Amino acid sequence: MIIALNDKECFEWSTNEEIDHRKQKYTCPACRNSVLFRRGPHLMPHFAHQKNQACYYSSEAESMKHLTGKVQLYKRIKELVTVVCLEKFFSEILQKSDIYFEYNRKKYAVEFQCSQISLEVLKKRTMGYLSIGITPIWVFHTDLVKQKGFYEVKVSKLVQSGLGLNHQVFLYDGSKKNLLILSQLAPFSKCTYFTNKVNIPLNKITINHFIRQQLLPRKYLSKFREKRHYHLNESIRFEGLRVPFYQNLYVSGFSTFTLPSFVGVPLKNGIGIRTPVIEWQGLLFLELIKTNKISQNEIYLLFKKMLLQNLIDTVPICEDLKVADKALRDYIDLLIEIGFLSGKGYLYQINSEAVQSITEDQVYNCLSRLDGLIK
Ligand SMILES: [Zn+2]
Repeated sequence: MIIALNDKECFEWSTNEEIDHRKQKYTCPACRNSVLFRRGPHLMPHFAHQKNQACYYSSEAESMKHLTGKVQLYKRIKELVTVVCLEKFFSEILQKSDIYFEYNRKKYAVEFQCSQISLEVLKKRTMGYLSIGITPIWVFHTDLVKQKGFYEVKVSKLVQSGLGLNHQVFLYDGSKKNLLILSQLAPFSKCTYFTNKVNIPLNKITINHFIRQQLLPRKYLSKFREKRHYHLNESIRFEGLRVPFYQNLYVSGFSTFTLPSFVGVPLKNGIGIRTPVIEWQGLLFLELIKTNKISQNEIYLLFKKMLLQNLIDTVPICEDLKVADKALRDYIDLLIEIGFLSGKGYLYQINSEAVQSITEDQVYNCLSRLDGLIK
């Protein structure tokens, strides 16, 4: 850590060049254990807890990677807002944030995470902040996400659960001084996501990068389409019938070749659902075509039942933020837009005979239109 308490109970910065560490004793402002001052030719000056004395209030033992990135981000945010604190301790929730700042009368805590922590810890810290009116912003070290090509990433369950405001993932690398925002994420399967990648050099970061969604036309849509085709035609041959959904599909008289092109599409708020996109949308589709008419409420109940039966799995944090419901809302909007559903929410007509005539181009044009970025 950068800030400790000295003998006089005053905050001392490890980066202060006049620090008199030979005469002073330092303590951790959070856990009150004594800490050691450290510096060296390759070390940023910092305070460290003694060995075997992990600080209960921090989420990870600090590496140089963590210290460097934290201080860089702090300095940049300090140029942008007036209220900002490094390593602020919140006694009411017993948590210490890497960076705390206020903007437009709202409070934010930045957590820069460089190592794997448990989901429970991440969830507990997120809920802790929310309980005192602070919005957490998880920034992960770039190494924690595996990038596969231009639009695809592999995102672990931990990083998924740290999805921040507007469902973006923030990745930072202090050695490159670069913030990478994974925006408009669309899950394909449990860990594979398509995304618009937005790179921002440290000195160009603004507060809006953290709190607003980076809305751009989704350039990955055609790649997503390709992957869906490949998956249905190829990989299904190897794994297909072990997956209950594909068994259901065949029993219902469909096959991977006749599955409508609006099953397995990237939605704006699809992010909260971990079940592969073809499967959850397919499960819903197979239920819908069993009937002629259905109300919006009944669709929501159907979906809820699938969640309760664990046929559909959600991202742990999103679960609490009702993001899965938003995905369903997006999907209903698409089904109306392409004409599979018609009428009003109290009773939709289901147009089963239209299924095979809806083309893939129509579906993807509708998706772009619903994004609101293309007229
Ligand atoms: Zn401590």
